[in-house]
Amino acid sequence: MINIVLFGPPGCGKGTQASKMVDKYNLCHISTGDLFRSEITGKTALGMEAKAYMDKGELVPDSVTINMLKLKMQSLPDVNGFIFDGFPRTIPQAEALDNMLQEMNEPVSKMISLKVRDEELVKRLLMRGEASGRADDLSEDVIWNRVRVYNEQTLPVASHYQKQSKLVEINGEESIEEVFGEISKILDSL
Ligand code: AMP
Repeated sequence: MINIVLFGPPGCGKGTQASKMVDKYNLCHISTGDLFRSEITGKTALGMEAKAYMDKGELVPDSVTINMLKLKMQSLPDVNGFIFDGFPRTIPQAEALDNMLQEMNEPVSKMISLKVRDEELVKRLLMRGEASGRADDLSEDVIWNRVRVYNEQTLPVASHYQKQSKLVEINGEESIEEVFGEISKILDSL
């Protein structure tokens, strides 16, 4: 199995790159943000709980997020590997992921981190909000809060995987095809 943690701030291009990786490498894409949005659409209790945090640009509590991810992975046996997009976002989430994969005898293969400057992220997210109407992309205050939360709470997760010699950083401000070229080189080497 190839298990990739696709890492980076909101608006760095994780979703775009993940869908190209699915097409080329036949991996299973799990985005915790997408899972929460589908719970919200389904008006489930989990969705309502998550929405309160998402609307403010805060992280959903670890216990809720980890349980949701566990259930999703259990519902997908026999896959070639996973792309984790938007997870883990905290050290407890990273430890939970490492443990879950260890139970399957399948470590994280690489963390691929897409680097984009804060101002560029905010510009991209405002444009995405205009095009998609996605709730948390509509307010500049909420967008800046998501960037701040990333820098304060999520960035330490990169050090967690750097200590395991699994971190690879890519300039996420190159074109979509150039970024995908770099990602492909990493995946082809595994
Ligand atoms: P995303 O689509 O990955 O940008 O996520 C949208 C929102 O969902 C985030 O701002 C968080 O409120 C919530 N979320 C997604 N993934 C996680 C996670 N791993 N931990 C906590 N909250 C998350």
